[in-house]
Amino acid sequence: MPDFLEKEITYLPGVGPKKADVLKKELNVSSYGDLLYCFPYRYIDRSKFYRIRDVSPASMYVQIRGIILKVNTQGEGRKQRVVILFSDGESTIELLFFKGVKYILEKYKPGHEYVVFGKVSEFNGQYNLVHPDMETINEAMSKQALGGVQGMYNTSEKMKNAFLTSRVLQKFISEIFNSLGEVRIPESLPSYIVEQHHMMSRHDALKNVHFPQTPDALRLAQFRLKFEELFVIQLNMLRQRNYRRLRFVGFKFTKIGDTFNSFYKHNLPFELTNAQKKVIKEIYGDLSSGKQMNRLLQGDVGSGKTMVALMSMLMALDNGFQASMMAPTEILAQQHFSSISQMLGGMDVRVALLTGSSKKKEREAILQGVRDGSVQILIGTHALLEDDVVFSRLGLVVIDEQHRFGVAQRAKLWGKSEQPPHVLVMTATPIPRTLAMTLYGDLDVSVIDELPPGRKPVQTIHRLDNARGMLYDFIKKQIALGRQAYIVYPMIQESERSDYANIEAGYESLQQVFPEPQYHLGMVHGKMKPEEKDAQMRQFAAGELNILVATTVIEVGVNVPNASVMLIESAERFGLSQLHQLRGRVGRGADQSYCMLVTSPKLSSEGRQRMEVMTRTNNGFEISEVDLKMRGPGDLEGTQQSGVAISLKIANLATDGQIIQFAREVAETVLDEDPDLLEEKNILLNQRLDRMARETKNWGVIS
Ligand code: ADP
Ligand code: MG
Repeated sequence: MPDFLEKEITYLPGVGPKKADVLKKELNVSSYGDLLYCFPYRYIDRSKFYRIRDVSPASMYVQIRGIILKVNTQGEGRKQRVVILFSDGESTIELLFFKGVKYILEKYKPGHEYVVFGKVSEFNGQYNLVHPDMETINEAMSKQALGGVQGMYNTSEKMKNAFLTSRVLQKFISEIFNSLGEVRIPESLPSYIVEQHHMMSRHDALKNVHFPQTPDALRLAQFRLKFEELFVIQLNMLRQRNYRRLRFVGFKFTKIGDTFNSFYKHNLPFELTNAQKKVIKEIYGDLSSGKQMNRLLQGDVGSGKTMVALMSMLMALDNGFQASMMAPTEILAQQHFSSISQMLGGMDVRVALLTGSSKKKEREAILQGVRDGSVQILIGTHALLEDDVVFSRLGLVVIDEQHRFGVAQRAKLWGKSEQPPHVLVMTATPIPRTLAMTLYGDLDVSVIDELPPGRKPVQTIHRLDNARGMLYDFIKKQIALGRQAYIVYPMIQESERSDYANIEAGYESLQQVFPEPQYHLGMVHGKMKPEEKDAQMRQFAAGELNILVATTVIEVGVNVPNASVMLIESAERFGLSQLHQLRGRVGRGADQSYCMLVTSPKLSSEGRQRMEVMTRTNNGFEISEVDLKMRGPGDLEGTQQSGVAISLKIANLATDGQIIQFAREVAETVLDEDPDLLEEKNILLNQRLDRMARETKNWGVIS
């Protein structure tokens, strides 16, 4: 029976070598089973017929019943197309065919009745259907028996050219079921799980997901298939976590010592928030447990993660270990270095900074210190990953803004110690809980859910670009009060020339609006040399510049508490999480801060929605939920690297949160009972995870 699903797709009637080739290339389908696991991306109610006069592009897919009035060709040679005039007795619409002209001319004749089905588009001010599905009235009527709802399958241009339309795919799938006869597709989940949770059998789920008998049956089928997909991921992740806990002994940091205590007593510049205290306790719990820590620290922009990182590193030092902190950009690494050095002022701790632009001599001295252990805290960019960075005794690695680092890079840091160091990854891009569960399901999660006291929420407004003058006046008033401002231009593609032109032109006109000697402006963007960028940043931080004109290079982590205005030009070009990060650059001091989003009046509905969310809330978690829903998980930073979102065929990380939660609970129960999946009843699961381990390189031990 498993053979059946593995049967090559070419055995299916109608699938010749050419179609098989396209199926392989476009859908990665080479067997019956592969095709069964290509699910419809939407369902259409085919029991409904539209009247032509009600049709518009907003109606998307429509089904119309009518008669062909005329069949014409237009154009010559390769540009030739067929235009069919189609009538429902009341009004007419054109059906356009750009391909298969000869075939269409032979097949469709005036006077015959058809049911056409397709997507409405607009061309030369007229609505039409391009390459619709056409069925004779008899064909269409015989289909109605199937319950009315019909699945639509994703097809690419190449597939359409090979006549692999949604309808043809469906026909093939129906052939697969026909060739099964009375035989049923075997279960892939242990039967006790299927029974206990009243799930649809695999066979029925596959059948109903392609050919829904009723809307209820479709829902049950989707639930079963989504559950299975998510359950296997959770099971795999939890088992790897268990395995790692058993296999790796962690360095045991037994004491809170002089360094930590002296810092706490004499150097702590402020009272810790309760959330910071809670998280530091959680981290100490891990570090002193003898198990290796893998913890994700989530905290909104400005919540004070750096202090938590520093105090954790001091715990490492007190136990005779080195600590290291990796940041995604040079500016950020430098900033961590200077603020940490400053916070440790007067203490006997050697901190060093290593980045791509460290000078050769300096670099060698640092590497020497790292090797002999005299450098206790090493801060840097991915330059830390290079092979010649060798630690004497690395006990803790902190990774800031972790979504910017790939899994492979994290793996490299791990390798820098004969025994894996403790790992703390920090992110200000809050990830909804259920997504975190899937992407970092084997990490423990801490959350700083409180901002330091005295912060006033940033006031955010959205204005059209013709109101810029008023916004500039506002900035002048803020400057008169001694505050500073950022003005940000989009730099979506660092390579895009027009973006540089924008910021350069913007800078020039800003110099007119804010003239010397009254005002001092600076500029930073990705094309500048690091030293230049740095000099400007430093001047801004020192209060010597009133306005910093910038691209998103300032997005992550930069800290200038006196800056109270963030004006973002062409805000519609930024993603939500980027806007939130940018906004987080202000509101870091005690003063009321402002974020001004400037857009053109022509906004897409998504653009408008983003502006609406930004002006409504300052809550990063809420924003990331909306972001996830709007963009889909595949687009969120971090998810690409994980590969999880891409591998999903039916579940949706954005909208199936409840099923994720449920799948995790079931996976936990299974593993609690049978940690190694050795019981007979779990044999299917054991085999499945083995297969996954063989197919994917095992990154689970890393993150
Ligand atoms: P993020 O979590 O975004 O990395 P930072 O660590 O950069 O935030 O902290 C933001 C600002 O808040 C810094 O100026 C930091 O010194 C300050 N800060 C951190 N914790 C506290 C606290 N408990 N009380 C007051 N200010 C704090
Ligand atoms: Mg930070």
